[in-house]
Amino acid sequence: MATRTDAQSVQCAECGQYIDPFKSFVCKSCRRKPLCLEHRDRGMRGMCQKCANRERRKQLHDLQAGVKSMKAFLRFIEFLFLVFAVLFSTQRFVPDALPEYIAQNPIVKYIYVPGILCMVGLVVVYFIYLSQKKAVNDLEAEISMPASFAPRIR
Ligand SMILES: [Zn+2]
Ligand SMILES: [Zn+2]
Repeated sequence: MATRTDAQSVQCAECGQYIDPFKSFVCKSCRRKPLCLEHRDRGMRGMCQKCANRERRKQLHDLQAGVKSMKAFLRFIEFLFLVFAVLFSTQRFVPDALPEYIAQNPIVKYIYVPGILCMVGLVVVYFIYLSQKKAVNDLEAEISMPASFAPRIR
């Protein structure tokens, strides 16, 4: 470890420790220098931990927004599916319950087509939703913000 008396030593911009210039780095984001290698982020190359965490929070924010809108979209497909399912069962099991002009409507007649498409869509979107949610959780763990700070997604 370099000491104060070492002619070659420089002072770390983050913690003020005297360090060997060869064991220091410049953050490519905030341009602070020199910084001890221990402030270098392991995940984001060339960045100090402060900048890397700020970057992660930004990513987290975007991911969370994405997860939220995907959840709303899932609800919407679920609703559509329900409508299709109700129409399908009515037309199939109690055909007299539907007025003739509705029963003969080609969309209603072949309601199983959008119904199946809906179901496939639901499965696909659900898996994307799960993977996004996992990405959010991973990022949250990586940032390891204080619990009160981390908005939870349910
Ligand atoms: Zn330092
Ligand atoms: Zn930085």
